[in-house]
Amino acid sequence: MQETERTVIPPQSGHAFRLAKGQQLRITDPKGAQVADLWAFSTDGNLDWLSASQTRDIIERLFPTVGESFYGMSGEKLLTLVEDASPGPHDMLFPACNPALYRRAGFEDHPSCAANLHKALTEAGVSFPFTPDPVDFFQNSLPAADGTLVVAASINPPGAYVRLRAERDLLVIVTACSVDHHPTNGDACTEIEVEVLAAED
Ligand SMILES: [Zn+2]
Repeated sequence: MQETERTVIPPQSGHAFRLAKGQQLRITDPKGAQVADLWAFSTDGNLDWLSASQTRDIIERLFPTVGESFYGMSGEKLLTLVEDASPGPHDMLFPACNPALYRRAGFEDHPSCAANLHKALTEAGVSFPFTPDPVDFFQNSLPAADGTLVVAASINPPGAYVRLRAERDLLVIVTACSVDHHPTNGDACTEIEVEVLAAED
């Protein structure tokens, strides 16, 4: 059995994790109300990456329920949601926060999930030419019946988590969302904890 690897991702930063097929990832929000963005890229030689739109199309829902999967651009399964110990909701409609979003809000040189994704990829020795749309765990932004899209404060309680299983060999990046000018992450940006768990027999 492999040891469990536990990483604390500091506020407003990101980290890359290499997962072998069958390994699991637990993403915990220790202090509560903190959004965690996630991306997944195949590392088995066949270029693929997690696609929010392919996932919505294949599962015919806004977000997977437990037992359903996140799919790549290829239409193949990349990750399965095996446990959701949070009240949700989660989001798969919004882009990652990015430098242009912060500039529109009047902030230059503000940390962002998009920049933290590419920094984590670079540290893992990978470059990717654009920013795929992320999975936003614990983000409270369900669409209203009239189609309005607003991000409200996360209602995730301290210690809530999700658990995912890799369906292929993957590089997964998780960021602790950087938004601090809007209630997205509650009163303050806090850390996200990630554990890589051994494959279950
Ligand atoms: Zn963000």
